[in-house]
Amino acid sequence: QGNLMQGKRGLIMGVANNRSIAWAIARAVAAQGGELAFTYLGDALEKRVRPLAASVGSDFVVPCDVGDDAAIDETFEAIKQKWGKIDFLVHAIGFADKNFLRGRFVDTPRAVFQQALDISAYSFAAVSQRASALMPDGGSLLTLTYLGAERWMPHYNVMGVAKAALEASVRYMAADLGKDNIRVNGISAGPIKTLAASGIGDFSYILKWNKHNSLLKRNVELEEVGTSGLYLLSDLAKGVTGEIHHVDCGYHAVGMKHPDAPDF
Ligand code: NAD
Repeated sequence: QGNLMQGKRGLIMGVANNRSIAWAIARAVAAQGGELAFTYLGDALEKRVRPLAASVGSDFVVPCDVGDDAAIDETFEAIKQKWGKIDFLVHAIGFADKNFLRGRFVDTPRAVFQQALDISAYSFAAVSQRASALMPDGGSLLTLTYLGAERWMPHYNVMGVAKAALEASVRYMAADLGKDNIRVNGISAGPIKTLAASGIGDFSYILKWNKHNSLLKRNVELEEVGTSGLYLLSDLAKGVTGEIHHVDCGYHAVGMKHPDAPDF
C-alpha cells in the first residue's frame, strides 16, 4: 500500500475477468489510493466485473461497447455527471475475428480488417477524445499493444496491423494533447494467457518460445504489467509521453534464438 495515486480518479476499460491486463493495472493503481470506474462489454461480463470493482472499493461500473459512438458518449457523460473530471484512462481492449488469427494475413477479408482496426485501434482515439475533455488539469492515457505491431509474429496477422495503427495513434495523440499536459503511452506486453490471447492460433507455442528466448528467461507476469501501468499513469512518469514501453522480460531486444534455448 502507498499513496502514489491518492486524489486521482480514472477509468479502466477492458476488464473481462481476473486474468485481464486491465484488472492487473486496476489493482496496482487501487493499492496506491487511486479511485476507479470500470466499463464492461455485454451483460455476461457485468457479473464478473462488478465483484472485482467492489473488491477495490468501486461501485462505478458502466457498460461500453467501443464500437458504438453513442455508447462511448454515454460512458463519458456518466463520468462527467458523477466526477466532473478524471486524471487517467486505461484502454486494454482488442478484438479480431479469431478465424483470421491463423493462416495467412494476405487472406484477411475487408470486413474483418475494418472491425479489427475499429475496435483495436480507432477506439483508443474515440475514448481519448472524450476523456481528454474531462482532463482540465492534465492526465495520462494508456493503451496495451504487442510486439506483433513491429515485427512479424506467427498467427497475429490483422491484429499486428491493428496494433501498428494503435502505436502510431499513441504518437499522434501525444502530440495533439501534449500542450494540455495529457500524456499518451502504450505498454507492449509480453504474451500472457488471457481470454483475448486464447483466440490467437497456437498461443502456447508463442509462450514457450518467449520463455526460453527472453532476456530474463521467463514470461512476464500479469502483476508486472500492472505495476508498469501504474508507473505510466502516475506522476513518476510525468516526463514520459509518446512512448511504447516494452514489459516483456526483454524479448523485444532479442535478434535471434538463444543457442541454449531448446528447439520445439
Ligand atoms: P482480455 O480478454 O482480458 O481483455 C480484452 C478486453 O477487450 C475484454 O475485456 C473485452 O471485453 C474487451 N473488448 C473487446 N471488444 C470490445 C468492444 N467492442 N468494446 C469494449 N470492450 C471490448 O485480454 P487481455 O490480454 O487482458 O487484453 C487487453 C489488451 O492487452 C488487448 O489490447 C490485448 O491486445 C493487449 N495485449 C495482450 C497480450 C497478451 O498476451 N494477453 C499481450 C500484449 C498486449
